[in-house]
Amino acid sequence: MECYACGGQMKKVHKDIEANWKGRTVIFRGLEAWVCQTCGEQAYEADDARLMQNLIRATELDADRPEVMNVEEVADLLRVSNQTVYNLARSGKLPAAKVGREWRFRRDEILAALSKGCQEEGASQETPFYRV
Ligand SMILES: [Zn+2]
Repeated sequence: MECYACGGQMKKVHKDIEANWKGRTVIFRGLEAWVCQTCGEQAYEADDARLMQNLIRATELDADRPEVMNVEEVADLLRVSNQTVYNLARSGKLPAAKVGREWRFRRDEILAALSKGCQEEGASQETPFYRV
């Protein structure tokens, strides 16, 4: 591959790449990159460039989500109705706290409860098929 900046020879290398995005740094380890042997210009494969962009955007979306969530936000996160969230909170199946008259949820606790719930369901599904 020829360097588009100086016409020199570009060589494929594996390297760590630091990408900065609105005050955040994402490090990609062992990424394939083309580096010019003459001027040091770098280029990435189109797929890798897209992947980097998507991952950086994903970290931004994640950081923009609130740590403390209300019923609507939890319902949206778990893709259930508001009523289901109320029911789960009231029965203690979702970790929740009442602030005044409002339910509030901690994002990390909701996600932990979700993965735990998946495991319990998965385990109980293994046996019923063999029952008569
Ligand atoms: Zn060059």
